[in-house]
Amino acid sequence: MIEFEDAAFRYGETDVLSRLNLRLTPGSFHFLIGPSGAGKTTFLRLCYKELAPTSGVVRFRGKTIGDQDRDAVADLRRAVGVVHQDCQFLDHITVGENIALPLQVSGLNVQERADDLASLLDWVSLNDRVDAYPPQLSGGERQRAAVARAVILSPDLILADEPTGNIDWDMALRILTLLVELNRMGKSVLIATHDLNLVRAAKSRVQARVLRIADGTIQPAAADL
Ligand code: ADP
Repeated sequence: MIEFEDAAFRYGETDVLSRLNLRLTPGSFHFLIGPSGAGKTTFLRLCYKELAPTSGVVRFRGKTIGDQDRDAVADLRRAVGVVHQDCQFLDHITVGENIALPLQVSGLNVQERADDLASLLDWVSLNDRVDAYPPQLSGGERQRAAVARAVILSPDLILADEPTGNIDWDMALRILTLLVELNRMGKSVLIATHDLNLVRAAKSRVQARVLRIADGTIQPAAADL
């Protein structure tokens, strides 16, 4: 689905990632591990083309997408749902409206999809928080709302950036369960995390491949985490 060939990225004069040669295939489940500052967020931003590689190639469904190719970039963005690390919401609209926002931005009729939205809220157990405002949510509720918002357009690939960063362990497992369920529904999932316990907890639930960022590049991690 997304393929990196000799791709590299630098911010200004600083090389962050180089020699990226990897492929995220349909239906796969990956963890991307590495300490804070290693380049995990940068890699995710390359995947959904918020950043373009400074050299090499990133392909989406076999096609290199140029910066000027707006339709292709829009297709890619529709196919990829992102759970951002900071899970920012618009604080002046409700949780339900925030989750439905990608529908609106894509010009889809939110009323017509009210049933889909209700099932999605049910799935993340936020039905009773639909009319709350984001500042009223707990950390775990925010993360679940962020997962719901990331999948409302039914993407094929979900990228989650430290989705369990600021929540307790039980809630982290709940978020992991949601992401595993999405994978069972056929979606590709990539979770960037520095939490090896999360990776270990996933092993009994899903066949996950683990990638590690080290020395500015990404390689399969050793099996004995
Ligand atoms: P991680 O997600 O693993 O914590 P990041 O991808 O956020 O890592 O950051 C990788 C490196 O790139 C860090 O050294 C960070 O300081 C640097 N960096 C991130 N964003 C920018 C930016 N917009 N401008 C310059 N340097 C950046």
